[in-house]
Amino acid sequence: MKHRPADLLSCKIPLSPAVLSCALSACLVAPAPRAQAANWSLHAQPARLVNGSPVLFQVKSPYRLESLRGSWIGHNFSFRFNAMSKTWYALAGIALETAPGSYPLELTGDKLSTKKTDKNVTFARNFTVGRGEYPKIKVNLSVESKFTEPSPEQRQQIEEGRQIKKDYLNRVTLDPQWAGQFIAPASAEISDVFASQRIFNGKTSSPHLGLDFRAPSGTPVKAMNDGTVLLARPLFFEGNFVVIDHGQGLLTLYLHLSEFKVKEGDQVKRGQVIGLSGGTGRATGPHLHAAVRWQGMYLDPAQLIKLRLP
Ligand SMILES: [Zn+2]
Repeated sequence: MKHRPADLLSCKIPLSPAVLSCALSACLVAPAPRAQAANWSLHAQPARLVNGSPVLFQVKSPYRLESLRGSWIGHNFSFRFNAMSKTWYALAGIALETAPGSYPLELTGDKLSTKKTDKNVTFARNFTVGRGEYPKIKVNLSVESKFTEPSPEQRQQIEEGRQIKKDYLNRVTLDPQWAGQFIAPASAEISDVFASQRIFNGKTSSPHLGLDFRAPSGTPVKAMNDGTVLLARPLFFEGNFVVIDHGQGLLTLYLHLSEFKVKEGDQVKRGQVIGLSGGTGRATGPHLHAAVRWQGMYLDPAQLIKLRLP
């Protein structure tokens, strides 16, 4: 991991030559014995962090810990321990609105110890967030007029959908249910990427907060990883809509389906068919819109699929 001078300035330890090597690899929040500090190891994936990207943090601690929690750009989360690799890991994300800069990952661990005192250990390191290279072109799409000029009855349906999403999508299951790689939800080419700007019927504009697959109606749609079906019902904009809860605040969303193959509360495995693609809701035609949400923010699904996960 390459560090810019700004990263070093945030260190609260003097930059004498003796500690410079420590500062280059890791940055201390509170003074601690130098040997122990050097033993922390923090890694992030992807190699270049950008706004809108999911992040896998991997941590090796010099202490035997009961639990490890992280704080990153205003979000708190817990790590899971892999005994084989003796590594703590957690999935997190960077909001599309996050400005480029250097941000600390702050860690708090509970030591495996019988003593009540000195149980907590803390550590932090700065990571650089760059600007994502997202398409700037604006796409003008034409959809049924009810989506841009809804009637009072349709406004009611829009409001109901908003309430359902507010209620369900912010529920967080702490324990991770995902394991290993996330997979593409359909065998089809990509027709629109994350964060492109769209204009509907020349009126309302919104960034594209998912990944589109050019899937003909009836294409099997697969769960991107293991999880629990949080929602499986029709909504006004989303059409037939499935949401899977993968734990640790991470959800995957599947829109515009023609058919459901799961119901709310079902446990699903990665690759399991959860529905068939279609063109229900605000869609210009049959396709699959897949989205990734972590703690209320939408992240780039293409980046999540690329991460090499334990
Ligand atoms: Zn889409």
